[in-house]
Amino acid sequence: MKIEILEKNDTNLRVAIRDADVPLVNALRRIALAEVPCMAIDEVVMIENSSILQDEIIAHRLGLTPLRTDLDAYNAPEDCQCQSEFGCPSCRVTLTLDAEAKEGTRTVYSGEIISENPEVVPVSDKIPIIKLAKNQKLKLEAYARLGRGKTHAKWQPVSVCAYKYYPKITTPTEKCGDCSKCVDICPKKVLTIKDEKVDVRDLLACNLCMDCMEACPQKPSPLEIEWEKNDFIMNIESTGVLPPERVLKEATKLLGKQLNEFEELVKAEIK
Ligand SMILES: [Zn+2]
Repeated sequence: MKIEILEKNDTNLRVAIRDADVPLVNALRRIALAEVPCMAIDEVVMIENSSILQDEIIAHRLGLTPLRTDLDAYNAPEDCQCQSEFGCPSCRVTLTLDAEAKEGTRTVYSGEIISENPEVVPVSDKIPIIKLAKNQKLKLEAYARLGRGKTHAKWQPVSVCAYKYYPKITTPTEKCGDCSKCVDICPKKVLTIKDEKVDVRDLLACNLCMDCMEACPQKPSPLEIEWEKNDFIMNIESTGVLPPERVLKEATKLLGKQLNEFEELVKAEIK
């Protein structure tokens, strides 16, 4: 198997995976979505809430605020030595919010949440939590912990994790006509006209919709769109809680762990 990074920034990772198969790539996708842990607020103690929103709605909004996760510094509550319902400093982060609208109506943003650990803070300072009218107040203490997307979507470290087949486009070797219908119809602008011939402009943008082949007046079309059966392009878009490459690494680690467990169970049963 070969892996090549096509694109990478703080929240996006696009990799080409060659010589793999669907079950493997799909297992990684599902683990990234549902099993790679990240931090989210799970419990809120309301000290004062004179806003018009109920405590539960505010707690729900806080839960869905993505928090930067320090995976190496915290234990999952179920694996923590404390085994306490309330958690301990190794499995829980305390955050506080104390906001008041003194002058007039104002919006309280995620940037006002204060965390006991500067590494575990909201991904963005500009997420609106609530709007307070004059003299309304919101004071609370919140507890974040590690969890998994299969329990609740707030613990999902990725907003997108998807793969597609690696496209393979065979363009006509000679000038095929004057229509350029295939070039014009493509929503992703994959094709172009070069030296009066159809040429590929951006191969990786192709999503195999086949509109170009259907638009071609010639049947069969001299343009051929196929895909490589064992090559994939995987797109991972992180919510910002973890770098996307870390999500992929954790997913492979978890898959390995699950397979080892499975192997042990099979061995124990068959003995
Ligand atoms: Zn603990």
